[in-house]
Amino acid sequence: MADIKEKMTERRLPLPDNNLRIGVFVCDCGSNIAGTVDTEAVREYAASLPGVTTAIRNKYTCADPGQQEIQQAIIEHNLNRVVVASCSPTSYEVIFRKCVEGVGLNPYLLEMANIREHCSWVTASDKKAATEKAKKTVKVAVARARWLIPQDEEQIQVTDAALVIGGGVAGIQAALDLADSGHQVYLVEREPSIGGIMAQLDKVYPDIECSI
Ligand code: SF4
Repeated sequence: MADIKEKMTERRLPLPDNNLRIGVFVCDCGSNIAGTVDTEAVREYAASLPGVTTAIRNKYTCADPGQQEIQQAIIEHNLNRVVVASCSPTSYEVIFRKCVEGVGLNPYLLEMANIREHCSWVTASDKKAATEKAKKTVKVAVARARWLIPQDEEQIQVTDAALVIGGGVAGIQAALDLADSGHQVYLVEREPSIGGIMAQLDKVYPDIECSI
């Protein structure tokens, strides 16, 4: 037990600076970012941060040439962490994870800094402020990258069934939709009958008839 705890504590420690080889990729997104943020200044700043081995600016990081630049840099500089400073992770994090995995880096050793939605788009009227905010955003992402640990994805068997809790109108509709999609559904209701508040209404719009 003590051994497991020790190992878990070890895994949570950040890598010492001399073991870190972080690559930072700063995206222009055409003029979406570069029109407001001085991306070259952000790249230079990123290159000066502790643990950063290389910082590269791309016109469109998510496009094939941008992804190839990431992969080349991982190989060339033996990078063990990647930070992409571009848009929201909801858009392209999955793609960048696949990109780094393609050249053997664990996909969870990737961090993103959102310098588009959080910087260029919301601070468009003040280029200097947008650039300073982008630098800070990248600094935070690089600091966080130190704490990333490789993770393995496990595949587990699941039962093709759904549990819907609550037999009100929303629960009933959700159960029907799931059943229509071919899944077995278990609908749980704490009251003796389903229908919830709707079942207590005498007349409902637009037919002005009994609800059930
Ligand atoms: S990675 Fe995001 S910010 Fe960069 S070009 Fe693609 S969409 Fe634009």
